[in-house]
Amino acid sequence: MATKLSNQLLEDILAQVRPLIGQGKVADYIPALAEVPADKLGIAVCTVDGETYQAGDADERFSIQSISKVLSLTVALSRYAESDIWARVGKEPSGQPFNSLLQLELEQGKPRNPFINAGALVVCDMLQSRLSAPKQRMLEVVRALSGEPDIVYDARVARSEFEHSDRNAAIAYLMKSFGNFENDVITVLQTYFHYCALRMSCMELARTFVYLANNGHSPALDEPLINERQNRQINAMMVTSGMYDGAGEFAYRVGMPGKSGVGGGIIAVVPHEMSIAVWCPELDASGNSLAGTAALEILAQRIGRSIF
Ligand code: GLN
Repeated sequence: MATKLSNQLLEDILAQVRPLIGQGKVADYIPALAEVPADKLGIAVCTVDGETYQAGDADERFSIQSISKVLSLTVALSRYAESDIWARVGKEPSGQPFNSLLQLELEQGKPRNPFINAGALVVCDMLQSRLSAPKQRMLEVVRALSGEPDIVYDARVARSEFEHSDRNAAIAYLMKSFGNFENDVITVLQTYFHYCALRMSCMELARTFVYLANNGHSPALDEPLINERQNRQINAMMVTSGMYDGAGEFAYRVGMPGKSGVGGGIIAVVPHEMSIAVWCPELDASGNSLAGTAALEILAQRIGRSIF
């Protein structure tokens, strides 16, 4: 029988997955991420009615990394005709690691989807063209959605990403060579790395992303961010591409739209009901939080929810 959501339920789930810590690997491509203690574990839920639940390190901020790719796509959808976006980035799962260059050459510089690095870089390029201050705009968006005016970029993470940007730069220049990049590559990389370097807690993420469970409408804003159809489309793409080459396994085990970041965070959505954020820094082979995925799997079973 399905269990009702409660802080106690979330505590129980964290206790169940805590023994998995030690089986994954903390992202170590930059020191600022490698230094994060592996035993951090948090979960937060925000319902469309505004109820919140949390357990563990749910109020501690971490680097949201690729979770930001959902926000950049959301902002792009509010600034561009849909056809303009999908002319430059696809909607298909990649089945490849998040930073792969493989398909990009074969597919003439058009990334498979907006949730791999190549696709997110194109989306950032589009934002760079339309927004006068894309970094400031994103801060305004997350501050408004989360209700936390003190959310900031982690300057050290952003700098460090930039110092280790060979691969992302290669992706962007390859796209530029195919004519699928409008702005200066370095400028766009800086914007992209700042978005990845947003520091937010599970509770802030759950509040921020509840619009995806609420027909595109955040309870924190007067106007919807995106319309119902665009909301369904983003959720669909999170199912097929939100977890990179682990998307199939995640759909099978968790059964919800989800988006991960290499900081160990994952957001997941139960359409029309709630958003969930988990954080545990150790990653599995696909770059998704190992214990975080397990926590979502157990939560889905305990509350009896699945989109399938
Ligand atoms: N900053 C990371 C990168 O671009 C983000 C990747 C991720 O979170 N999957 O490589």
